[in-house]
Amino acid sequence: MFTEKKCAYCNGEGLDPFGILSPLSKCQVCGGKGMIKASEPAFDCPFCEGTGEHPGQRITCTTCAGKGFVTVKEPSIECAYCEGAGRHYGQEWLSCSVCGGKGRVTVPGSRETCKDCDGSGKARINSILPCVTCGGKGVTRVARK
Ligand SMILES: [Zn+2]
Ligand SMILES: [Zn+2]
Ligand SMILES: [Zn+2]
Ligand SMILES: [Zn+2]
Repeated sequence: MFTEKKCAYCNGEGLDPFGILSPLSKCQVCGGKGMIKASEPAFDCPFCEGTGEHPGQRITCTTCAGKGFVTVKEPSIECAYCEGAGRHYGQEWLSCSVCGGKGRVTVPGSRETCKDCDGSGKARINSILPCVTCGGKGVTRVARK
């Protein structure tokens, strides 16, 4: 299954939006094609809010590499640790260490709310750290009986 999405970095125009090398240089993200193929379910990149630009800097977003979207294997849920924002707790220029800034995480098909963090994804002793039991996802795999 392939979906094609417009390159966010150059807005589908295929040109480097900042013209760093020359105003006519090709967009480094899509290679000048203006479109990018995604082989997995794609979501708007929460870290750059779909713009493809790193927040506050004229470089490509470190999470989506400038594409403006991220792909996450199914089944996926919103990352509990960053609540889908893709940002590291208290450090908004850093991507979330649990989801890598994608805002979503792949989870087991049969899962339950993590009992240790109550689904918050944050460690009970120190909420700056992700919960060790679920790895910050807020859910754990249901143990087979
Ligand atoms: Zn592009
Ligand atoms: Zn991004
Ligand atoms: Zn996260
Ligand atoms: Zn947990």
